[in-house]
Amino acid sequence: MKILAEELVMKNEGTMKEQKKKTRRKKDRPDYGVLDKLVISKGYCCGCGVCVGVCPVEVIGYEALPKLIGECISCGRCSDACPRGLGRINMEPQKEAIKDGLVGSYLNILAGKATKTEILEKAQDGGAVTSILCACLESGYIDGAIVTRMDPERPWKPVPMIATTKEEIISAAGTKYHYPFEFSVLKKATKELKLQSFSVVTRPCSTEGVRRLQQSRSKKSGKAIKLVVGLFCMEAFHTDFIDEVVAGGMELSLSNIKKINIKRDFVLTLDGGSLVDISMKKAEPYIRTGCRFCSDFASEMADVSAGAVGTKNGWTTLITRTDIGKEAVEIASNSGWLETREVSQKVLTTPHALAKRKKDRAIPILR
Ligand SMILES: Cc1cc2nc3c(=O)[nH]c(=O)nc-3n(C[C@H](O)[C@H](O)[C@H](O)COP(=O)(O)OP(=O)(O)OC[C@H]3O[C@@H](n4cnc5c(N)ncnc54)[C@H](O)[C@@H]3O)c2cc1C
Repeated sequence: MKILAEELVMKNEGTMKEQKKKTRRKKDRPDYGVLDKLVISKGYCCGCGVCVGVCPVEVIGYEALPKLIGECISCGRCSDACPRGLGRINMEPQKEAIKDGLVGSYLNILAGKATKTEILEKAQDGGAVTSILCACLESGYIDGAIVTRMDPERPWKPVPMIATTKEEIISAAGTKYHYPFEFSVLKKATKELKLQSFSVVTRPCSTEGVRRLQQSRSKKSGKAIKLVVGLFCMEAFHTDFIDEVVAGGMELSLSNIKKINIKRDFVLTLDGGSLVDISMKKAEPYIRTGCRFCSDFASEMADVSAGAVGTKNGWTTLITRTDIGKEAVEIASNSGWLETREVSQKVLTTPHALAKRKKDRAIPILR
């Protein structure tokens, strides 16, 4: 009996020590309330969904913004991985990279165009992004990709999809000018599907989210992200724009819109090929607030960045920044998925101008 009592005391002391340790740890780590106070309520949130994707107890949900839907355990993972959170990301450019203060450091610049008709028919520009992903999946370089498709129930509402077949990747081609909370499916990719080296297609803010994730407490899931394809981006819009201005104001049926593009204004291509212009002035009120704090146009932290401006219509401008990005483009061109052309530095004239405009107008994030 005595032995048992002593054992119990020792056990209790042990548990109390553990408990104290846990409480101390909890106090040191910011909870969801901190993320809410420092990021979400200030309008900095970019809609990448990394907080949703890393929450171990799945109590962060989202609509237009992330929101707490259960009890936070104060593990600190959400604020740790948030690209608008505390702390800085440390990402050195590769040694041999050409330094560029506007579009970010790079190894080379190319123009890329898909060789497959089914991709060109669906793609936004040259279909280079879709071709790179398909080629990398086919060769086993990646085992899947987080891409953004349209919600089948609500046309033009973007939803993230974990594509593990070329058909799925192709089905998600084309730009949706909104924020898809792409990393909300992170846990599904790593835990459920057990992907080990997948790709993500991201806007610049979410590209920063990947790098934060890879240096955060949740770096195990971040490690499984092998290839980061970053898009050029001036801003993303609330889906209300589509409902109120396009469907409501213009009385257009969303399912009849084949493609949406931003030139100076919004240009909608309807089924049958006719074009409808919507002035950017009408769209401006629908810009996500978080975009006003962003100073990155060209996804400077990606392995390879892709955009429309720079190259000719029907081609994608590709900026490779890391060996991984370069390898991915080579896999696509060597396997016949992608036609590539060398381009001169002149191709960067418009990306430079837009990148400068974005940096100049970015409102500093204050804490
Ligand atoms: C919000 C937004 C704003 C952009 N603004 C500019 C701009 O100002 N200037 C410019 O030159 N280019 C801009 N782009 C990039 C451009 O629209 C094309 O995505 C890029 O040129 C690649 O073309 P592609 O034909 O090679 O891509 P595709 O082969 O068509 O593939 C596009 C890929 O992007 C994914 N995707 C679609 N929408 C999103 C999204 N919202 N978030 C994350 N992934 C998505 C698709 O799932 C697909 O994998 C923007 C893209 C987005 C999403």
